[in-house]
Amino acid sequence: MSYVDEVIESVIRENPNEPEFHQAIREVLDSLRPVVEANEQQYRRDALLERLVNPERQIKFRVPWIDDCGQVHVNTGYRVQFNSAIGPYKGGLRLHPSVNLGIIKFLGFEQIFKNSLTGLPIGGGKGGSDFDPKGKSDREIMAFCQNFMSELCKYIGADTDVPAGDIGTGAREIGYMFGQYKKLRGLFEGVLTGKGLSYSGSLARTEATGYGVLYITEEMLKCHGEKLEGKTIAVSGAGNVAIYAIEKAHQLGCRVVTCSDSTGWIYDPDGIDIDALKEIKEVKRERLSVYPDYRPNAEYHEGKGVWNVKCDVALPCATQNELTLEDAKQLVKNGVTAVAEGANMPTTMEATEYFQSNGVYFLPGKAANAGGVATSALEMSQNSERLSWSFDDVDAKLKEIMINLYHNIDRAAEKYGCGGNYVIGANIAGFEKVVNAMNAQGIV
Ligand code: NDP
Repeated sequence: MSYVDEVIESVIRENPNEPEFHQAIREVLDSLRPVVEANEQQYRRDALLERLVNPERQIKFRVPWIDDCGQVHVNTGYRVQFNSAIGPYKGGLRLHPSVNLGIIKFLGFEQIFKNSLTGLPIGGGKGGSDFDPKGKSDREIMAFCQNFMSELCKYIGADTDVPAGDIGTGAREIGYMFGQYKKLRGLFEGVLTGKGLSYSGSLARTEATGYGVLYITEEMLKCHGEKLEGKTIAVSGAGNVAIYAIEKAHQLGCRVVTCSDSTGWIYDPDGIDIDALKEIKEVKRERLSVYPDYRPNAEYHEGKGVWNVKCDVALPCATQNELTLEDAKQLVKNGVTAVAEGANMPTTMEATEYFQSNGVYFLPGKAANAGGVATSALEMSQNSERLSWSFDDVDAKLKEIMINLYHNIDRAAEKYGCGGNYVIGANIAGFEKVVNAMNAQGIV
């Protein structure tokens, strides 16, 4: 059996009931085969893949908090510090009832390669809790965030581990967590990113992931002799990534006709009204079902359906495994030419393969959505030098990072004879830097 297959088998055996983690390991290791085969003897001797697939540290803790009626609840908190070969652990905190150790491990593992691809010195980590922020009052959110941070603060720091937002963790939650960290540790330091602008956050961090998806998609199309301008786009999700992907797409002359949340989806033939969407989701924190009150021409549908809409480009920006083989077939039938993952692993492996074998340009999340963490790293730089850069400075750096990232993964795919396969390109390019650093630092 090959070394890669041995390691995949051992991960499945030693981490039972963690299907998302298995899926991420399989996807990455499968595409690393050419590199691993070229160095198999050394990697086996150094147990390199075993060290890569096992987190350096995983922390699981109890989070008790009191609701507005005086009832105590107990949630579980996680932080997986996966790999610090190239920098302090970096990765978001997800607050969603579906969170479990396997989900955090899949996200943390992906984060290693994504962070490496940004070209910035950040290692991979991820955390979160099965706490559900939906329907909670501000006081309850604060109670949870403070208790979560009371434990997490023992393991993080500006030079060790710097968490950020993710699903369910936006500016409000980061603010409460930062306040508690400062109180307990007595340190005003860049321990979290995605902070508010009044307390050392970075301009353009809120927009960065969504904007980055569009910058890299535009560059990819340009390199294939096509223009992004004028394209019709289908977006899923209505959170941070989706909102700013839609905003940038409109700025670049595209028309985004869909968005969704976990209860339903919108079709707006005139193009999603970004101001209405921000008001619904960022200000009022309402469901998408109210969108037609703002735009009478738009349709709201319960359930899932975004991928049945005719579009040139699809941007899945909600959650993992939301775009299945059936969806991919429908999109191809409707003439989609490019797919870029705003979310982490939103496309199933079968759907990804279907796109690739039908000539659709496919950008995996670890490349397409890396603009968020890249800008988080820029926030860390600003915090270290105690300066704030202008929006245009940060945005220009973000754009440059995304363009370089595209060329980096494109070259890596070419080098291993898989030109145009950006899944392989991203995994190999991300892996090479991490492995160089691991080898240089010895068996630790
Ligand atoms: P948000 O919480 O802001 O938004 C998530 C959106 O996806 C919401 O519209 C939500 O609907 C929907 N959603 C969440 N879970 C499900 C589900 N199980 N089924 C259907 N819809 C769902 O999160 P973000 O926009 O920050 O994150 C979206 C994705 O992008 C995630 O995969 C995240 O890991 C990834 N990502 C985020 C980055 C960032 O900077 N924020 C950076 C890189 C990746 P509802 O409100 O109804 O739950």
